[in-house]
Amino acid sequence: MRINDLLSSGKKFVSLEFFPPKDKAAWPAFFYEVGKLSTLSPLFVSVTYGAGGSTQANTLELVSRFSKDFGLNPMAHLTCVGASEDYLRGFLDSLVEAGVDNVLALRGDPPQGQEDFKPEDAAFQHASDLAGFISKAYPDICIGVAGYPEKHPQAESLETDIDYLKLKVEQGGKFAITQLFFDNDHYFAFVEKCRARGITVPIIPGVLPIMNLASIKRILGLCGATLPPSYLERLEAANTKGGADAVRELGVDYARTQCQDLVARGAPGVHLYTLNKAQACLDIVKGLSL
Ligand SMILES: Cc1cc2nc3c(=O)[nH]c(=O)nc-3n(C[C@H](O)[C@H](O)[C@H](O)COP(=O)(O)OP(=O)(O)OC[C@H]3O[C@@H](n4cnc5c(N)ncnc54)[C@H](O)[C@@H]3O)c2cc1C
Repeated sequence: MRINDLLSSGKKFVSLEFFPPKDKAAWPAFFYEVGKLSTLSPLFVSVTYGAGGSTQANTLELVSRFSKDFGLNPMAHLTCVGASEDYLRGFLDSLVEAGVDNVLALRGDPPQGQEDFKPEDAAFQHASDLAGFISKAYPDICIGVAGYPEKHPQAESLETDIDYLKLKVEQGGKFAITQLFFDNDHYFAFVEKCRARGITVPIIPGVLPIMNLASIKRILGLCGATLPPSYLERLEAANTKGGADAVRELGVDYARTQCQDLVARGAPGVHLYTLNKAQACLDIVKGLSL
C-alpha cells in the first residue's frame, strides 16, 4: 500500500528500518527477528540499499519477502549516485513486479575514499533528480525522501538544505524521514522551519537506539548528527561501570523516552532504525501510546 495513503489517516504509528545482512547464512536469524517485530504491526518496513556493502539484489529480495512471507508493507531505499537510467529502471521494474508500492529516493554517498567522485550520469546528481524521474516514469509509486534536522554534512546551511528538501517534495516526495537525532528540539525546530518554507508533507522522525558506544561515534562522524554532551557523559559512565550491556540498556531507555516525547508533542509516528535487533525495538515501543 502507498505510504502516503496510510499516513492520511493521521493515526500514530511505528515504522521499522532494516538492513540486509551481507551473509546469506545470517538470513534465517534475521527473519526470526523480523517475525518478532511484525507483532508491532508497523505502518511500513523499509530496507536500506547498498549501505554498509550490502547488495541491491538483497534489498529487492527482502522487500518482496517482507510482503509475501510476513504480510508487511515494504519500502525499498534506492540511491542514484553513480547509477544509470537503465539500471534504475531495472530496479524499479523489479519492484513493480514484486508489488512494492514505496521507494525512499536518495542520492547516496560516493564510494568510500573517492571524495572527488563524479557521477557517471549527470542526470542523477541529487535525490531530487531521482524523485523527479520516478514520479514521471512510475507515477503509481509513492516516493519518500530524506530530511536532516541538523543539516546534511555537505550542506552550506540548514536553510539551503531545507530548500533542497522542498525541491525533493516538488519533484514528487510525499513524505520525509529524518536522519537520526538525539535531541527532540532539533526535530521540532526543523519541522517548524520546513512548514515556514512551505513544505507540507509528513516529516517522520528517525530514531536510533544506541547499542554500542564505538559504533555510534563512527556513525555520528559520518552523518553529522550530534549527541547532547550530558547523554554522551552518561553513556561513557555506563560503559566504564557496566560495559556493553549497560550502554545498551541506557540506549534503549533513552530511545523509549525520546519516542514517547516525540509522539506526545505531535510527531506523526516514529521510524525506528532497528539495527536488525528485535528485542531493543520491542522494549522501546512498549508503553508508547499509538
Ligand atoms: C532516512 C534515511 C535513509 C537512508 N538510507 C540509505 C540507504 O539505504 N543507502 C545509502 O547508501 N544511504 C542511505 N542514507 C544516507 C544518504 O544516502 C546520505 O545522507 C547522502 O549523503 C545524501 O542523500 P540524500 O538523498 O539526502 O541527498 P540529497 O537530497 O541529494 O542531498 C545531498 C546534499 O546535496 C545538497 N543538494 C541537494 N540537492 C541539491 C541541488 N539540486 N543542488 C545542489 N546541492 C543539492 C543537499 O543540501 C545535501 O547537502 C539514508 C539517509 C536517511 C536520512
